[in-house]
Amino acid sequence: MSNEGGRQISVGSAQESRTVKLLVACGILLAVVIAADPAAWSLRERVLLALVAVLSVMAGLLVRRDRLTDQRLAAERRQLSIAVNNIPQGLVLYDASARIIICNQPYLDMFGLSPDVAKPGCTMQRLIAHRKETGSFDGDVDAFCNAIIQTVSLGKATRQLTEAPGGRAIEIINRPLKSGGWVATIEDVTERRRADEKIAHLAHYDGLTDLPNRILFRERLEQSLKAIQPGEQLAVLYIDIDEFKSVNDALGHPIGDELLKGVAERLRGCLKETDVAARLGGDEFAVIQTAIKDRSETTQLVDEIHSAIRQPFDCMGHLITTDASIGIALAPVDGVDLDQLLKNADLALYGAKGDGRRTYRFFEIGMDHRARARRSLELELRQAISDGSLETYYQPVVNIEDDKISSCEALLRWRHPERGMISPAEFIPIAEDSGLINQLGLWVLNTACAEAASWPDHVRVAVNVSPVQFRSPSLALNVAAALAACGLAASRLELEITEAVLIRDDEAALDMLHQLRKLGVRIALDDFGTGYSSLSYLQRFPFDKIKIDRSFIKDIAGPGASSSIVQAVVNIAAASDMTTTAEGVETEQQRNLLYILGCTEMQGYLFSPAISAAEVRRLLLSHRGRAMSAA
Ligand code: C2E
Ligand code: CA
Ligand code: CA
Repeated sequence: MSNEGGRQISVGSAQESRTVKLLVACGILLAVVIAADPAAWSLRERVLLALVAVLSVMAGLLVRRDRLTDQRLAAERRQLSIAVNNIPQGLVLYDASARIIICNQPYLDMFGLSPDVAKPGCTMQRLIAHRKETGSFDGDVDAFCNAIIQTVSLGKATRQLTEAPGGRAIEIINRPLKSGGWVATIEDVTERRRADEKIAHLAHYDGLTDLPNRILFRERLEQSLKAIQPGEQLAVLYIDIDEFKSVNDALGHPIGDELLKGVAERLRGCLKETDVAARLGGDEFAVIQTAIKDRSETTQLVDEIHSAIRQPFDCMGHLITTDASIGIALAPVDGVDLDQLLKNADLALYGAKGDGRRTYRFFEIGMDHRARARRSLELELRQAISDGSLETYYQPVVNIEDDKISSCEALLRWRHPERGMISPAEFIPIAEDSGLINQLGLWVLNTACAEAASWPDHVRVAVNVSPVQFRSPSLALNVAAALAACGLAASRLELEITEAVLIRDDEAALDMLHQLRKLGVRIALDDFGTGYSSLSYLQRFPFDKIKIDRSFIKDIAGPGASSSIVQAVVNIAAASDMTTTAEGVETEQQRNLLYILGCTEMQGYLFSPAISAAEVRRLLLSHRGRAMSAA
């Protein structure tokens, strides 16, 4: 179109140029003729010829001016045409009688229209009818056109979204013009709409797992709460992945992310269509279980979730085993108010964590009180650490045959001003949850090493190390520093770790164990038999000692299988040059049986409970005295 116009203009300008020259030349010629022989012309003729000469020159000049104006207009038209055809939107300019003034190429392309129809002068009706014939419009042509014409004639714009072939989304806006008529812009908004949808999705879904996020979870819960039918219940499950932080810290975020994705996938697999799973942030997930007739349906779901999550996850080549604590609140019994229900689910989760994790709890009235008590205990524990009101006690570990003290285990004691002695079983989990355990563990390590430095050389000291401490990369350094500070030989320190340290394919933990071993420190596996696949852990690291959990010793004289388990452990240990310590030995009968089974050492009330540092010193002295007098 523009080229054509350009060509016409260039042809026109050559002709016009000649005309100008001719007219000016004519005028000048006449003037020269008159001037050359004025006498040859009558006055009238001279006046007439002079007039013609002047008019010729003027006409020539006028033609030249018009030619310049036309050139400019043509150039502008050309530019407009280029601009109109190069915008991404379709554009149709209609006059007041709804006929096309301009219709650009993108418009034709968008709907696959013929330029022979969609061209200046074509009526809107004809244009839309052509769209109908070619398949890009399937409504009523007249009704469609009339509606637009009517609206724009009232000075109002219209906006419509239509589908074009290939599933494209097209937005058409008709804007009235002051001069009459209107301009229609037609835009392919498919990409924009996709981007909008993506943004809307991101605002409501978690980017990592693609589960609904907290915002959508609340919306869904609100809807579900309104839809509860008489006789039905709704359950909110708060799910916390046990020790997720340690996976993240020890194996890195990419593996932590893989684990979360895996958990999300398994959660989805446990739900029925009407239930909702969401990721609330970090390692916290939630589930809305709807239309429950009986509480047992929730227990069943929780069991399914637990067994799904307990299957090992393959995260970038690492086989990770994990577990979950689950808190449950039911509507309407535990509240119909959204925030109240969520608070109760959170309290129930707190309760599940407090009861040793890897379990679930339904909300109960007393939980609020217990949670508050736990929080205040945490505050008091912080205070106790800074006040120095914690103490380290020591429990002797003796040779089962002759009661010779081979080591003493450091056990924390908290003398609470009002509550008296608080068991470490109560405050260690709080210290682990709050991160206080690192500070506390370091203090026990230094105190116990310093104390052991004053004991006879053959008596070792055993220190419990929490799985949380184990994830600190500076653990080996701290141990070396504690030994150096008091001059204790590394071989006299024994670190007790539980299976929780090795519960996942934790290369970092194994690496740390080897670092500690290199220092010359001994490593004992504590509470053996309380975890899952205990025996497999023994193959993963060459422990120096296995401590058989109290629960086996308690039943050892009974009819159960305890004694055969102890026997198996003793055999495995002996085959690998490990010693075995039986924990919680309280009776002579237990001691005798353990002796027969081949157990090396024992620890328990039968010999001594944990005692203060001063008492241990006295005991060790008297022991030495006894040993010397026996010799
Ligand atoms: P544990 O490491 O298994 O310690 C042995 C526990 O059994 C101690 O409880 C001890 O007092 C108790 N015990 C010893 N002999 C007998 C017995 O004959 N009968 C019975 N019924 N119990 C006996 P305690 O001192 O209350 O410690 C509980 C747990 O707290 C410990 O279990 C250990 O896991 C943790 N803990 C204590 N001190 C520390 C510490 O400094 N750091 C860490 N990380 N954990 C600690
Ligand atoms: Ca221990
Ligand atoms: Ca133990």
